[in-house]
Amino acid sequence: LMEREAQPAVQTEADLKQKQAEARANQPDNNYPVTTGQLIGSTPLLDLSQYSLNEKVKIFAKCEYLNPSGSIKDRIAQHIIGQAEASGELKPGMTVVAATSGNTGAAIAMACALRGYDYIVITNEKTSKEKVDAMRAYGGEVIVSPSGVAPDHPDHYQNIENRLCAENPGTYYGVDQYNNPYNAEAYEATLGPEIWRQTSGDVTHFVAGGSTGGTVSGTGRYLKSENADVRVVMADPKGSVFWDHVVKGVSADDVCVSKSWEMEGVGKDSIPGCFDINVIDGMVRGNDEDAFAMCREVAANDGLLLGGSAGLNLHAARVLSGEVDDGSVIVTVFPDNGVKYLSKIYNDSWLESKGLEGAAEGNGAVSPDV
Ligand code: PMP
Repeated sequence: LMEREAQPAVQTEADLKQKQAEARANQPDNNYPVTTGQLIGSTPLLDLSQYSLNEKVKIFAKCEYLNPSGSIKDRIAQHIIGQAEASGELKPGMTVVAATSGNTGAAIAMACALRGYDYIVITNEKTSKEKVDAMRAYGGEVIVSPSGVAPDHPDHYQNIENRLCAENPGTYYGVDQYNNPYNAEAYEATLGPEIWRQTSGDVTHFVAGGSTGGTVSGTGRYLKSENADVRVVMADPKGSVFWDHVVKGVSADDVCVSKSWEMEGVGKDSIPGCFDINVIDGMVRGNDEDAFAMCREVAANDGLLLGGSAGLNLHAARVLSGEVDDGSVIVTVFPDNGVKYLSKIYNDSWLESKGLEGAAEGNGAVSPDV
């Protein structure tokens, strides 16, 4: 609250420009040596208001791809491994096991490399080669399971994690990121407070896609604890189950994927334990073309290579900017970076092979679905 009073709300463009100049001037030199772990979090907030459909509405994005393993998931890996060690569940000599669409795998692999654990990560065939190679590069084992199998199928990546852990009690520690309460808690403890501070409490909307639901639930919970009026809007790929669960009220037991999508790390085939539906105020859906077109547009115009879920988030933020009141400040996240998808989103032949060649033109906001 003290900080909030000390820094008046953003009112005019000149105000914002001055705040940005002050933020730059007040930045520490960052010239004191740090450890890898200390590189996690405290990411910059990027102004992308040029994508707003209303000149009186701001769009800001947290550059989560700047975390050391290249994604937002470093925040949960650090917190989950730290808490598991503190509780005694994870002991020296044990092997850490994690089912992942790739980013949590790299984050866990990094955390294990730093702390001397062996690790096994299980992903599926949809995961880009770049991400699979990165998970191996830290020195552990990667299992690639089939994609598109039902959530109750024994080859589903989450079931493989559960089976490996059940078969090796006391020697394997399962991260269970989809149900681990320390997942959302990591965002409640770090990402939420950073957004609150970086906007001096001016944030009015938080937009994020979900897979485990940790980002949207933990960050949303924190922001609402500071200001109950903050609205949390979930971005979801068309076909994912969150939309049916949140918008149509289909029970978690009855949801099923209605159509597959190419975006990685976002959208889900079942409702995870980490997902807190009570935090969600609204949803925006987007398809692959919306997300990838946004990625290509941002690459060409703003010099940033974004991952597909960041493209979806910015698409959703742009759609939302046309719906909200003047003066709104929409904050979203860029979970990872496009270098992980050079063979996909930024490869015209791949886009063509998926019937998504329109995305190469970079013309975002194709099909708003609010
Ligand atoms: N984007 C990307 C690229 C991801 O890897 C993930 C996590 N799988 C998300 C978004 C979604 O984050 P969360 O699991 O916190 O819902």
